[in-house]
Amino acid sequence: MAKVLVIADIKQGVLKGSTAELLSKAKAIGAQTAVVAIGSNIESLTSELANAGSDTQYIVDDPGLELFSAGPFASCVVDAANQFDANLIWFGFSESGKAVAPRVAAQLEAACATEIIDVTLDGDQIEVTRPAIANKVMQRVKVNTERLVAVVRAGAFEADEGISGTENVVKLSAPAADLKAVIKELLSDASGEIDLADADVVISVGRGAKDQAGIDLVKELANDLAAGFGSSRAMVDGGLMAHNKQVGQTGKIVAPTLYMAIGISGAIQHLAGMNGSKTILAVNKDPEAPIFNVADYGIVGDLFEVVPILREEINKIRS
Ligand SMILES: Cc1cc2nc3c(=O)[nH]c(=O)nc-3n(C[C@H](O)[C@H](O)[C@H](O)COP(=O)(O)OP(=O)(O)OC[C@H]3O[C@@H](n4cnc5c(N)ncnc54)[C@H](O)[C@@H]3O)c2cc1C
Repeated sequence: MAKVLVIADIKQGVLKGSTAELLSKAKAIGAQTAVVAIGSNIESLTSELANAGSDTQYIVDDPGLELFSAGPFASCVVDAANQFDANLIWFGFSESGKAVAPRVAAQLEAACATEIIDVTLDGDQIEVTRPAIANKVMQRVKVNTERLVAVVRAGAFEADEGISGTENVVKLSAPAADLKAVIKELLSDASGEIDLADADVVISVGRGAKDQAGIDLVKELANDLAAGFGSSRAMVDGGLMAHNKQVGQTGKIVAPTLYMAIGISGAIQHLAGMNGSKTILAVNKDPEAPIFNVADYGIVGDLFEVVPILREEINKIRS
C-alpha cells in the first residue's frame, strides 16, 4: 500500500488549505497518510492536522525552528519519511517547499518532481503529470525510483470535506543547528497587502492600464473584493509594479477561486502562472486577445470604462 507523507504548510502558526488538499488526494488514491509539521509552538495544530486527513502526525516543535531554514527543515522531513517509510513525499506549492524538496530527494536518493498536477499508482509504479515548456505541453513522467519527492502545483488537488484522519502523534526531535546558514531575522512585506498565494480572489493589472492612475483604478476594485493584487511582467519591467506582484512563469503561480485579468493580453508566460484558477474573468479591448481563450467570462471593452461599472455593480449587489 502506498504511504504518503504530506509536509504541513504552516504560516505564522496557521495551517494552510493546501495541506488538506494533498491529504485528500492521498486518501483518494487509497494511500496511508501521515503529515509532518515543523515549527515552534505548533502542537496545538494536531487535531486540525488529523481532521485534514492524516492518520499519523509527526510533530517537530522546537524554538529553533521558528524561522524557516531549508537545511534543518529538510532533516525533519527526512526523519519523518524514514520513520513512516513513506514512498510518496508531497510538498504544497510554496517557496519553502521548492527549497526543501530537492534537499530531501537527495538525502533519500529519491526522484524529485516539481509542479505535479496528478499522480497515479500502478502497483509500485509511480507516474506523475506535470506541465512543461511554460505549460505548452503536459508531461507524463514514469518514476524509476521507489520513492518520489514531489511539489504539487497550487490548486491541483481539491480538499474533500468528507475526509478525516485519526490522531496519532509522534514527536520527533529537532535536528542540530545548521551552522552553514543561520537565519537571524525574517523581513516580511510590510505593505499589509494580501499575499497572492493565499488570496481567494486575485486581480491582476496589465499594460492596458498604462500608468499609475490606471493601476490605482484597478486596485480599487481589488480593495472592494479584498482580493490579492497582481500584475503582468510588462508592468513590473516598466517599474510600475513590484516584482513580488508578478504572476506567471517567472513570477508567482496562483490558483484562486476567481482570477481577473485586466488589460492583460494573455501571453503564454502569464498564463503559466494563473491558468489553474477556478474561474477566469478577462477585460480587454481587443476581442482577439489570447486571454479570452482561457477566460470563462470575457468583457471586450476599455478597462477605464469597464472597471468603474464592475465596481458599481459589485457594490450594489453587496449592499
Ligand atoms: C522568459 C520570459 C518569461 C516571462 N515571464 C512572464 C511572467 O512571469 N509573467 C508575465 O506576465 N509575463 C511574462 N513574460 C512576458 C510576456 O511574454 C508578455 O510580454 C507580458 O505578459 C505582457 O504583459 P501584458 O499582457 O500586460 O502586456 P501586453 O502584451 O502589451 O498586453 C496589453 C493588453 O492590454 C490590452 N489593452 C490596452 N489598452 C486597454 C484598455 N484601455 N482596456 C482594456 N484592455 C486594454 C491590449 O489589447 C493588450 O491585450 C515573460 C517573457 C519571457 C520571454
